[in-house]
Order: sequence, then C-alpha cells, then structure tokens
Amino acid sequence: MNFEEESMKKETLEVQSEAIFRMGEFLRSRGFVEILPVIISPLTDPLNHSVYDARIPYGGGYYSLTKSMIFHKQLALREYPKIFIFSPNVRLEREDKKDSRRHLIEFVQLDLEIKDATREDILDLVEDLIIYTMKKLEEKFGDFIKATNPKFHIPKKPFERIKFLEAKEKYGNDFEMILSRERNDPFFLIDIPIEEREFYDRLSDDGKTLIDMDLIYPYGFGEGMSGGEREYEYERIIKRMKFKNMNLQDWDWYLKEVKKGLPRSAGCGIGIERFTRFILGLENIKDARLFAKLPGEIAL
Ligand code: AMP
Ligand code: MG
Repeated sequence: MNFEEESMKKETLEVQSEAIFRMGEFLRSRGFVEILPVIISPLTDPLNHSVYDARIPYGGGYYSLTKSMIFHKQLALREYPKIFIFSPNVRLEREDKKDSRRHLIEFVQLDLEIKDATREDILDLVEDLIIYTMKKLEEKFGDFIKATNPKFHIPKKPFERIKFLEAKEKYGNDFEMILSRERNDPFFLIDIPIEEREFYDRLSDDGKTLIDMDLIYPYGFGEGMSGGEREYEYERIIKRMKFKNMNLQDWDWYLKEVKKGLPRSAGCGIGIERFTRFILGLENIKDARLFAKLPGEIAL
C-alpha cells in the first residue's frame, strides 16, 4: 500500500486520526478512563462465528490473540466504572468473508463498557459519540469529506430502533442489508435472538432475545457496532455456556473470576475502519487503514 495507489488517499488517514482523537476526547469528557489494549491472553471472545485459530504456544500453555476484550472489560470495571480501549483485534476470518468489503483479519475497535448501565444508556451514548465525532470531522475536513462522499450529513438523535425479528419477518433473511441500503441514516437493530450471539450478552425476561444491539450504517455499509447488557451472574453464565455447548473446562480462567464477582454492565465496540469507511463512503474497507489485511491473503 502506498499513497500513489489511487485507492488510498492521504487525507483518509488524517480523517481517521482526527476521528480517533475526537472519540477519545468525547469519552474522557464523559468521565471514561482509557485503558491499554490486551494483545495476548488465555482468555478471549469465543465469537459467534468460526475463525481460524490464532494461538501462540508459550511456557507450556497457550496465549490467544485478542478477538475482543469483552472479558477484560468486565474485569476492568472492578477498578473503574467507565472504560474504553482502542483495541487491536485479530480475527482470522474464513475465506468466505474475502469479498464482503467490510472484513479485515486485523482491525481496531473502540471498545467501551459502563458499570451498572442499561442498553438504553449505551444507545444514547453512541448517538452522542457518533454525532460529536461527525461534527468535528465536518468542521476540519468538510470539503474533502463531501467531495469524497456527497451523501455525508450529520444524523439526528434519536437513531431509529428496529427489532431484529420484526425486520426479519418483514424483509426476509437479507433484512440487514436491505434496510442498510434503504436508509439514509444510521439505525439500531435491537433484541437480537439468542442463537445469533455469544453467551455473554444478557438474556431478556422473555428468554428468546437479548438485551443487545447493532448499529447499522446507511447506504449499504452495514454493521458498524455491536453491544448490549452483559450477563454477570455465575448461574446464568453457566446456563448460557451450556446452551452454546461450550466446554466449561476451557473457561476456567473466566469462571474463577465470575465466582469472585463481576460488576453488572453494558457496553459496545465500534469498528474504527468501518466507521472511516462509512464517513468517507469508501468502496472497500481495505482503503480505510494502512497495512490492511483481507481474509484469505497475506499482506504487509
Ligand atoms: P463484534 O462485537 O464482533 O460485532 O465486533 C465489534 C465491531 O468491530 C463490529 O461491529 C465491527 O465494526 C468491527 N469488526 C468486527 N469484525 C471485524 C472485521 N473482521 N473487520 C473489520 N471490522 C470488524
Ligand atoms: Mg457484531
């Protein structure tokens, strides 16, 4: 990758750099503490889809490369009630994701979590965060952004909330992309069914859907953020792990900590490259970072 390649403009990274700065600034102003990323750990996100293993043998055991810091966020909340991390994630996605135009195998998410928060608190925060960052980007790079992406405009609060199952019933299996193409503003998909997600998003009282959400960008850019309220009680976590047919022995590290007590919380993760792609209307996510690595290829 170099700047002479027509696909990547120098300004793209300047916009991205400003976005990272403004997101951090916004969260600090709301009382968040930034913590450092965890890159290797025996404990990482199981994800709800299959990826190739990224483990490093060490000291007679194994470290996994971080797929997300979800569990470290829960543990960090014992020290601080509001935290965020610009978290590098490695997910060795399978080749079927090669042409999605929104998957990298190495990406960064702005991962945040709040003690005692509800889903609604996070939706409200994400709206403010997105609007604040977009306004700051428009102030500094308005001409460039609008030349690159004529559809750029600042969305208004509240973003639309759409129930996952209602959307699926109305539009069929491809509902997310259909809605994303139809809409002109970001919206939230909420109440996602239990089979679609990892064990740690909190189950609602109906026992079918979760108290969680995705942020979907308009103009076909698709999902840009996922999050929810979290399970934090030992018995409920065991039940959810069993529902996923997980081998509890593999989760010793986590379960020991759960037994000591996890704070109740809600949070989310916003992909930085996907946000950059949405802001600038980029055709492919590979143009939203330096040293981009697409599924199924080896690259610098
Ligand atoms: P998740 O909790 O798995 O949805 O991940 C949180 C966010 O990280 C997503 O909403 C995306 O914005 C971003 N993300 C997840 N996987 C990838 C990927 N393979 N490439 C780029 N961004 C990703
Ligand atoms: Mg997601």
